[in-house]
Order: sequence, then C-alpha cells, then structure tokens
Amino acid sequence: MSQPVLEARGVSKHFTAGRATVRAVEDATLALLPGRIVALVGESGSGKTTLARLLARFYPPTAGEIRLRGEPVKGNQRAYYRDVQLIFQDPFGSLNPLHRVRYNLERAVKLHHEVRSKEEVEQRVVELLERVSLTPVEQFVDKFPHELSGGQRQRVVIARALAVEPKVLLGDEPISMLDVSIRLEMLNLLDRLRTEDGLALLYITHDIASARYLCDDIVVMYAGRMVEGGPKEAVIADPLHPYTQLLIDSSPDPERDRTDRAALFDAEDLGEPPSLIDPPAGCRFHPRCPVAMDICRTDVPPRTELPDGRWTHCWLQENK
Ligand code: SF4
Repeated sequence: MSQPVLEARGVSKHFTAGRATVRAVEDATLALLPGRIVALVGESGSGKTTLARLLARFYPPTAGEIRLRGEPVKGNQRAYYRDVQLIFQDPFGSLNPLHRVRYNLERAVKLHHEVRSKEEVEQRVVELLERVSLTPVEQFVDKFPHELSGGQRQRVVIARALAVEPKVLLGDEPISMLDVSIRLEMLNLLDRLRTEDGLALLYITHDIASARYLCDDIVVMYAGRMVEGGPKEAVIADPLHPYTQLLIDSSPDPERDRTDRAALFDAEDLGEPPSLIDPPAGCRFHPRCPVAMDICRTDVPPRTELPDGRWTHCWLQENK
C-alpha cells in the first residue's frame, strides 16, 4: 500500500470560549492515501469540520501533529495549499461574487504558479472548466457566480481548487447544499478526479448513503472523538461500535435487515449529542449507549486494531 499523503496523528483541538474550553477534537488519527477516498461521517457537532480545518491548517492543533508526505507540517502556508485544498459546503460563499468565473480561476492559477503569460493563464482556465465539465467553456467563463446554478458554482469551486494541482482535496459537505438531482453528478465528478489525478480525498458528510456510494474507507466521529473506521463494506455491513450501528440504522436502506439493532435503539430515548464544553468522562457515547458498562463511564476506550484494517474505540471490542 502507498504512503499517506496527509496524516493527522493524535490531533486534538480545544477552543477557549470565555472561561470554558470546548473540546472540539480529541486524539484524532487519520491517513489519506493517493487515489483513495475516506468518508468522515458523524452528526453535526461531532468535530468533522474542525478536523478538516486542522488538516487545512486554518488553525494549529492543541496537541498532536499533521504530517504531509511523512513530514510534520510547518512554515509556508502558501506552499501547503499547493498540495492541500479545502472545498466548503457553500459554493456561493467561496467565490468572489463581484467577479466573473474567469477572474476567480485566473487568480488561483496566478497565485499558485510561476507568473505565466496571459495566453497560458487563459489556456489553463479553459482546461480547468473542461475538467469539471463546464462546457462549452464560453458559456460559463464570463458569468458571475449568481448567474450559475448551485451545482455549476460548486464545479467552479472545484476547478479553482484544482488550479494548484493539489495532491489532497478536503471536501466539507461539498454536496449537501446542492439540489438532490445533481448530487450524484458531483459525487461522480469527485470519483473521476481521484481516479484521473490520483487525488487523496477526504469526504466529510453526515449522510451515510453518499459515503457508501463514493468512499473506500469510512471513519466515524462522535462528540469530537473517532469511534470506528475501516473499509466501507465491512463497516456498513457489520458496524462494531454502538454509535456506528445507530448511525447506519437511522439511514434508509431497504435491503438491510435492521430488526435486531433497531429494536435495541428504538426502545430508548437516545437524547442529544453531549456538550463539548463538559463532555462525559470515559466513552463520550456512554450516556446514549444501551450496552454501556461501568468502565465506559470512567475510562476512555483505547483504539482496538481488528483484522482487515478495521479499528474501533469501544470497551466491548477491547475486552473480547
Ligand atoms: Fe458503549 Fe462502552 Fe462501547 Fe462506549 S465503550 S460505545 S459506552 S460499550
């Protein structure tokens, strides 16, 4: 297997809010490999976006480290963005609304490359729009963002990210604000980019169905902690952590027999995810977990490595 392009190793992020500390991400470990897609799934407030922003170096980790090609990241942010690009949920918010598509793309091309001739920059803009299937190019290149549909805008955002020829794309809910009718098209575009360019892609979503469609591996987060990960087929068919079971059971899939686990969860009032200011001790899922044991209330479950690249943080597996 190839080496990871981008890694988080034991990364935590705590924010100060007045006198309180928000423990947004705790001890997160993740590796992104060329040509592979990892889906990072969880409810809102699970720490997914904070982790993406840590990987994008929007802010430094409180503990742990981010590694690019095996080296701890430091120094020049601009050089880093040649390798790592983040795509946001809201394509409208990420484009300059006062400028045409051409300007938005030219700026990215010029910012990240040696100064090129006007013709070269123009040629690159055309290539980028073709790559994201905004063709014929002349129909799109001189439009303002508000003249495009949501899906077309997100394609421009992706084209702009590709302008720097990155090795890693971090997509933070990149399809969730788009019309249902074009979500599949966008997923297919991302899939094509990883195949053609060998991009490593982190696909952040709260939607198991799209993760199931697109990714190779799944990592599940709950209340700032990673709880389970591994190859998608295995995790979805046989989730080991009770939270992953809940997440998968609550996502519609007519082919899956959910009788046993649904009975376990439907009988309970599951409540809300916990506050990250004063999260539960031990396993953060214990107040919602129908099979919690005494140790779960006091001790954080360690990472248990399982066969076939799977792992989980749950005392049930650790004690087997
Ligand atoms: Fe439930 Fe305990 Fe596993 Fe947490 S560690 S998911 S509380 S069994």
